[in-house]
Amino acid sequence: MPPIRHSSEDLLWMRHALDLAQQMRGHVWPNPPVGCVIVKDRVAVAQATTHAGGRPHAERKALDEAGASAKGATLYVTLEPCCHWGKTPPCADAIVDAGIACVVAAIRDPDPRVNGGGFAKLRNSGVIVSVGACADQAKQLMSGFFHRIRHGVPEVIVVDGPHAAFPAGVDALIVSSQQGPRLITGRGEIDLSGMERHHLLARMGELGLTSIAVSRHDPLRMILSSSPGVDSNTLHSSTAVRSCATRDVEAFPPSREKR
Ligand SMILES: [Zn+2]
Repeated sequence: MPPIRHSSEDLLWMRHALDLAQQMRGHVWPNPPVGCVIVKDRVAVAQATTHAGGRPHAERKALDEAGASAKGATLYVTLEPCCHWGKTPPCADAIVDAGIACVVAAIRDPDPRVNGGGFAKLRNSGVIVSVGACADQAKQLMSGFFHRIRHGVPEVIVVDGPHAAFPAGVDALIVSSQQGPRLITGRGEIDLSGMERHHLLARMGELGLTSIAVSRHDPLRMILSSSPGVDSNTLHSSTAVRSCATRDVEAFPPSREKR
């Protein structure tokens, strides 16, 4: 089947939704970082991300912001809307109830409780659904989330340079210092000195992080690479991240936390 061609307008709004989602990386576990934009007559009437801590979902927040303007509008979202009752009602139902005419989604949600069910519910209710705009970027954005769901610990990404700057596309950078390991996040630094070295990755998971960068030349790399749950294939090159994310989308585990 030939690849679907998405309009330049769809791609533009989806990139905007991805930019929104990017801002919430590392802050929304146990949910994925999702961005949502509602557009009517070529104007954004609402935009939202998954809330810090994972709830409410991005679609729910954007619909609340749009109010009556959602009727007949197009909703852009970086991941398939949920269709199951977790700790919040299904977003697919809220989208239908709000009168959204068209949903453009980047990727299907591989969670077995969704996995196409959100799209089916929308289509069965008369909503036009288009899937695949900026799909590669969305998989990349959620690579840490998919990795953590599968392996239980954050994804470790090796970056070049002895003192690598905070890299784009990851939740945090870990660096050695004389006092001990320090974690540099988008919202400041966290001192991890005094921690058992082999508990570092688990501790970073407890902080809600899904992807950690470490310099190729930092001795911490060896400590992290020997941690349980780390896929050594992803440690050789940051370019391995994309293939890892794609594989994880196809092999989502059956059980996970309620979201
Ligand atoms: Zn939802």
